[in-house]
Amino acid sequence: KKLPTDPRTDTARRQVIEACFSFVRPKIPSNPSLVHVSPDVIEAIGLDIACATSDEFLKIFSGAEVLPNTNPYAMCYGGHQFGNWAGQLGDGRAINLFEVELARKTWALQLKGAGETPYSRSADGLAVLRSSIREYLCSEAMHHLGIPTTRALSLMLSGDKVLRDMLYDGNPKYEKGAIVCRVAESFIRFGNFEIFTSRGDHKTLKKLVDFTIEHHFPHLGTPSKVTYLKFFREVAHRSLAMVVHWQRVGFVHGVMNTDNMSILGLTIDYGPYGWLEGYDQGWTPNTTDRTHKRYRFGTQPQIVLWNLLQLANALYPLIEEAEPLEEILMEYKNDFPKAYQDMMRQKLGLKTASEGDSGFIADLEAVLQVSETDMTIFFRHLANYKKDGSIPGIEVIQEAFYSPYEIQGKVQKQWEQWFLNYSNRLQQEALTDVQRKGGMNEVNPKYVLRNYMAQLAIDAADKEDYSLIDELFQLLKRPYDEQPQMEKWFAKRPDWARHKVGCSM
Ligand code: AMP
Ligand code: MG
Ligand code: MG
Repeated sequence: KKLPTDPRTDTARRQVIEACFSFVRPKIPSNPSLVHVSPDVIEAIGLDIACATSDEFLKIFSGAEVLPNTNPYAMCYGGHQFGNWAGQLGDGRAINLFEVELARKTWALQLKGAGETPYSRSADGLAVLRSSIREYLCSEAMHHLGIPTTRALSLMLSGDKVLRDMLYDGNPKYEKGAIVCRVAESFIRFGNFEIFTSRGDHKTLKKLVDFTIEHHFPHLGTPSKVTYLKFFREVAHRSLAMVVHWQRVGFVHGVMNTDNMSILGLTIDYGPYGWLEGYDQGWTPNTTDRTHKRYRFGTQPQIVLWNLLQLANALYPLIEEAEPLEEILMEYKNDFPKAYQDMMRQKLGLKTASEGDSGFIADLEAVLQVSETDMTIFFRHLANYKKDGSIPGIEVIQEAFYSPYEIQGKVQKQWEQWFLNYSNRLQQEALTDVQRKGGMNEVNPKYVLRNYMAQLAIDAADKEDYSLIDELFQLLKRPYDEQPQMEKWFAKRPDWARHKVGCSM
């Protein structure tokens, strides 16, 4: 076939065969401007904060210029979307710029929303300010919560208008275009492996697996079937750890398709994610998933397992034995309840394990489910409970209820019973009230990026006021600390924001 004149600028949509990526160039933005930058991430990649205001920084991280001797590229991957094989997807609006090596760590820098690639399918390769603010703030917030995640270096406006919706009157609705520079050790996903297996291209599959192990799992050893199994086991462990963290803080990812599962166990792709306000196992922030609610809060751990099964299928051609792969999946099944219980015990301030804990934890989940109780406020206030029971439990946590009617009749009895059990359970513990509270506050965040908070920052930013982005950014750097000046963010969702959701595009 005739090659395009400059393969680096060829964004013709196509099936990319026997290759892991395609060279592309970011779209040149018409009038880029910096909205926010993460000083931590600047430092992590070995730059000085002063450079953030330079013209060069603006140009590189908005896609206006490409650094000499670098070759930006978009990755080829497939994926299972909502349970169905979707074929080739790929980086439709993400472009890897280059990698930075620092203190034996490698960081890949990637622009999201920098224009078309061969994988853009019917879309434009762009991102809007709204979704970019959500990704920028949340990924940094997750990092400071101690949760493995991709990070964000910068948030820029492109100066271009992006068409997102048609209004009811048939007129086009434009939004401000934006570009986030994401940073991670790697952006490789489960779907990067699945695509080659689906095509029977075991040669490229092996190349990618060997590359991934050599660069990101070098401690596992040289390529062999045994190494591949160790690799799968480690991915399973990391994915399990990630989802336990999500359940701990009430994060609901919203689109856990296999193309959104990082091979490193990082939280990736902040689309229609949301945070539990009222505790609800059945809640999903994803409006397109409201019928089946496949990706609701309560199913996230199971979905990770389902996704791992897809990865196992993708790796199978290199291992050619189902049993050891199944064993690792079984390990996940067995390990998860243990890990979850340990995590819940920490949230409840329990140091020792006790036989009845799983029932005791399930009872709490049940009563939280039937009374609309703010998850974050509940666990923070629970830390004020006194071991001697001198203050009734319901009183300690009552601010977490969305309405006083939540705790009447049968539900009230359920709560009283649970607190009675809690009180008894605490008698088995050696910790003092103060010690217990200290430990609980290390795992129960005081400040999370509630859905309405991101929305307020978006609304202000739309009017060119970026102060709220910065305020939330600073707040969420210390999510476990008391920040008396910021108490207004430790509050239940206001009524206007009830079940308000974000959107991925
Ligand atoms: P997501 O649901 O965000 O994981 O996206 C699924 C697929 O759609 C990925 O391959 C994305 O790269 C692609 N995609 C999402 N939004 C856009 C866009 N605006 N332009 C091009 N591709 C997109
Ligand atoms: Mg994605
Ligand atoms: Mg997305």
